[in-house]
Amino acid sequence: MKLILLGAPGSGKGSLAKKISADFAIPQISTGDLFRALAKKEDDFAKEVKAIMASGGLVPDEITCKMLKERIEQEDCKNGFILDGFPRTIAQAKALENITSIDSVILVELPFSVIIERLSSRRTCSSCGEIYSATDGKLENCKKCGGKIIQRDDDKPESIKHRLKVYEQSTSPLINFYSERLFKVSNDKSLEETYRPVKTFLKNLEEK
Ligand code: AMP
Repeated sequence: MKLILLGAPGSGKGSLAKKISADFAIPQISTGDLFRALAKKEDDFAKEVKAIMASGGLVPDEITCKMLKERIEQEDCKNGFILDGFPRTIAQAKALENITSIDSVILVELPFSVIIERLSSRRTCSSCGEIYSATDGKLENCKKCGGKIIQRDDDKPESIKHRLKVYEQSTSPLINFYSERLFKVSNDKSLEETYRPVKTFLKNLEEK
């Protein structure tokens, strides 16, 4: 099963992708995670990517598409995958059509006001990427791996504003682009409640 998770940054795509990945045994491919790993390197290219990410802008399509293609050509993707954070532009969606077919696109919806609140309080493990919330009290180390808990540069107020603007301008046109293959879910409830209809939809898709 080849899926795309579409939605604004902070809409909860990543958490949903993890649940789908575990239940349907397909890898979650997060271009954000791939870029964060790349940005840890020391070379000029890594520094450039790190600066783009910190500003909340998008890495150029050509670089992103090449990285994505190389990732989904790996062995673990042969039975499918969930794309989390890709495509983010119409150009990326068109490039994807030349790489592989897609079975369905899940659109995760959440009002921007809630997203801003969630992203501002989001804290992330710098080692394993586990997500926490500052509203749960001060946490210095990850409960899963002991890594340092940080606030991502792009979860700071100016970057959040920019990321949402970029989403509106460059990514939301994909909702029309994929209108015939779109399954919409609102993420204003608990993760379990949000996931339930998605799971039913995917089970049906799998049986077809
Ligand atoms: P995310 O974790 O998905 O919010 O991604 C973090 C950052 O990585 C984004 O703000 C972009 O700078 C970069 N990024 C992730 N995916 C893409 C993409 N598909 N196209 C361009 N840049 C991306």
